[in-house]
Amino acid sequence: MVVVFDLDDTLYPESAYALSALQAVGELGEARLGMAGFAMELHRLFNSGHRTKLFQTAIASMNRPAPTAEDLDLFLTTYRNHRPDCLEWYPDALGLVKDLYARYPLAIISDGYLPTQKLKAEALGVGEWFNPVIFTEELGRKYWKPAARAYELIMKTFPGESYVYIGDNRAKDFIAPRALGWNTVCVRRSDGIHRDALAPVNGAAHHEVDDLSAAASIIA
Ligand SMILES: [Mg+2]
Repeated sequence: MVVVFDLDDTLYPESAYALSALQAVGELGEARLGMAGFAMELHRLFNSGHRTKLFQTAIASMNRPAPTAEDLDLFLTTYRNHRPDCLEWYPDALGLVKDLYARYPLAIISDGYLPTQKLKAEALGVGEWFNPVIFTEELGRKYWKPAARAYELIMKTFPGESYVYIGDNRAKDFIAPRALGWNTVCVRRSDGIHRDALAPVNGAAHHEVDDLSAAASIIA
């Protein structure tokens, strides 16, 4: 058996990365545009569920003039290239990985902007546990999930095995592995950004769990 994991909100809370990156953007805005309180407003909006146009919304709610395209670009670049001091694993995820590591090959398939995903992976030290770590963006933007390419690469690397994918996003994580005959586990974390995403037809995971503490017995 080969056990393949998603990264964000499966192994660690994506919101922790987002808040750390927003802090960096906030401090930049405060220094560059003199917007005292920008970091705090970004955090407030994120924590109240805003996920799109966060920078513009924060600036508008602070009654500041709309940002220039150049400023927005700088904010986005800062966000995507943010290197967190450290990221904490979900303890149940680390426990599962340590448990499986001696018995099965472990791998990662992760979507997202490449510098960001690499910085997250580095901060978590995933290289110690997973090989390969596939960033779908490296294959090409069209190979982000739900594309099957990354899953097929795993099957080529480990032919003739059974395969499991463990992810959190019902909208895209399980469509390809299901079609390829993999077992699938969806972890629906209380703080997961995509916990309420809906599964398309044939896209639901075979198993759903609240955390990964019992996942080893499910996939055994
Ligand atoms: Mg995820």
